[in-house]
Amino acid sequence: MKSTGIVRKIDNLGRIVLPSELRKKLNIEIKDAVEIYVSGDSIILKKYFPACVFCGEANDIISYRDKNICSNCLKEINDSDEEFIETL
Ligand SMILES: [Zn+2]
Repeated sequence: MKSTGIVRKIDNLGRIVLPSELRKKLNIEIKDAVEIYVSGDSIILKKYFPACVFCGEANDIISYRDKNICSNCLKEINDSDEEFIETL
């Protein structure tokens, strides 16, 4: 992990501002979502890319009941559903 040398104070609502130069560098735009990770006593912020809950794939994501699923897994589920129905 590399230090940016940037020190920011948390305001009275628990917020910090991500410096614009850092946002630019990491392609984070206003209203983008960031995901919060914890590692030991560190907090890591990552630009949020919705990923498939089954395989972690980040392309072709469909959201269903607040879960993300990729088109490949969706197809596999649909196919196995048909196989399941055929056994009935
Ligand atoms: Zn998947």
